[in-house]
Amino acid sequence: MALSLFLSLLLLFGIGGIFFLWFAYDRRGTREHHRRYQTVFHCVRCGHLYGSTGRPRQADCPACGLANIPLRF
Ligand SMILES: [Zn+2]
Repeated sequence: MALSLFLSLLLLFGIGGIFFLWFAYDRRGTREHHRRYQTVFHCVRCGHLYGSTGRPRQADCPACGLANIPLRF
């Protein structure tokens, strides 16, 4: 009786630990992705290439100030 209870608790904590690690690493990966993700823009007026973090729909060119849409590959 005690052995089966011990094994059940061991299995429960093992599965719980795996789910905890899965959740923690998934959250960390999502944060890293958002921090590293960079959208590339090409200015149609002056030809300057620049980037912006995140996924903005448009960003102003640092050289001439024109708002451009992101490059699509
Ligand atoms: Zn420009």
